[in-house]
Amino acid sequence: MVKITGYETHDVRFPTSLTGDGTDAMNTDCDYSSAYVVLQTDTELTGYGMTFTIGRGNDIVCSAIREVANRLVGKDTEELFEDMGKTWDYLMADPQLRWIGPEKGVIHIATGAVNNALWDMYARSRNKPLWKLLVDFTPEELVKSASFRYITDAITKEEALAMLKEKAAGKAEREAKVRELGYPAYVTSAGWLGYSDEKVARLTKEAIAQGFNHFKMKVGANLKDDVRRGNLIRSIIDDPQFLPPGVAPRDPNGEDLRNKNAGPTGAVLMIDANQVWDVNQAIEYVKGLEEIKPWFIEEPTAPDDILGHAAVRKALKPHGIGVATGEHAHNRMVFKQLLQADAIDVVQIDSCRLAGVSEVLSVLFMAAKFGVPVCPHAGGVGLCEYVIHLSLIDYIAVSGTMERNVLEFVDHLHEHFVTPCSINERGRYNVPDIPTEGYSIEMHKSSIAEYEWPSGSYWQTRIKQ
Ligand SMILES: [Mg+2]
Repeated sequence: MVKITGYETHDVRFPTSLTGDGTDAMNTDCDYSSAYVVLQTDTELTGYGMTFTIGRGNDIVCSAIREVANRLVGKDTEELFEDMGKTWDYLMADPQLRWIGPEKGVIHIATGAVNNALWDMYARSRNKPLWKLLVDFTPEELVKSASFRYITDAITKEEALAMLKEKAAGKAEREAKVRELGYPAYVTSAGWLGYSDEKVARLTKEAIAQGFNHFKMKVGANLKDDVRRGNLIRSIIDDPQFLPPGVAPRDPNGEDLRNKNAGPTGAVLMIDANQVWDVNQAIEYVKGLEEIKPWFIEEPTAPDDILGHAAVRKALKPHGIGVATGEHAHNRMVFKQLLQADAIDVVQIDSCRLAGVSEVLSVLFMAAKFGVPVCPHAGGVGLCEYVIHLSLIDYIAVSGTMERNVLEFVDHLHEHFVTPCSINERGRYNVPDIPTEGYSIEMHKSSIAEYEWPSGSYWQTRIKQ
């Protein structure tokens, strides 16, 4: 019997605000941060998890993580692993902690870190990367791992089970295919608002050379600037001369690019406003960006405004522009309503704003039922390491589709992880394949020692200056 004996948390902050990385219309001054947790047992078995913040407040999340993790101390790991859906319910069920949510805000993202750490431990205990643990589950085991509370009006356990059974036969074939090709990705790091036109042009060309064909730029600070930057990016991505040697343009009318406003080389542009507008403002502003032909506007307005998103989507439909959201959708009920209200074209789950793998599964099931593609939010720190696992689960075991999906990729801070994610020469994520890497989120001890706030060596040097 293996017992959870304790935990440690680390408030790790990277000084990304110094370079303008991660800047958008709402978040102008980000120090990408990890509220990091290590679950310990009375054996070598360990579980690593984290949630992402952008700086101040990361200590508050660490404090909440300790409250949640404390509920696991003394528990038998096999009993927890035996029914991860029930374990998730248990983590949610502390009446006093529930009051400071429920299922939203600091307590929820803290629970995400802990639930992810537990899933990481489970995968390590079976000597499989997390995605492989889950795709090898039977449909019954996968359904049992999710949370269905409050969403049975959108999907029942029986419906989810029937859906997963239908997909079970093709799992081995899809696994082999994605191992060979990699999982499609898109790049955001060329289009941060804080970058000059020259830097945007250079990074866009570099991204094409790396094999990417979906690109996202941040918008919403100034319409004239956005039109100029959008046309700059389009002039590069639509020009076949920049394609890597031997790479042919993709057919913009092909099934995998349907309704994506792809240009002549098959390149796709997406735009992201990070919640800056009211609903009517969003509609007017995005109409002003029609000439740069975006596939979708991401986070046009407040993340909780389901009917607002539906109104934006309806108004932009005649202009051929879709709506995406989810990185701030704080629980499965928000996604349920976005899907029920026909408010989104793309589901952008976040690996640690939702309360961990168990709640993510609930959203994957709903998205598959509603036929809406899942393109997870990533970037930040650690999010790319996490989400490749989730997209693999979605493709292999749940939705069965990947070619219309794209997974966000931002090339920052991967060097701090023991098993960092990677991209192949076709601009696609490689499949994480090390049996001991769990959920791929273990950080180097040296990175923690350097960037822990405020005691790490980096911050101590700064403080003394
Ligand atoms: Mg975004």
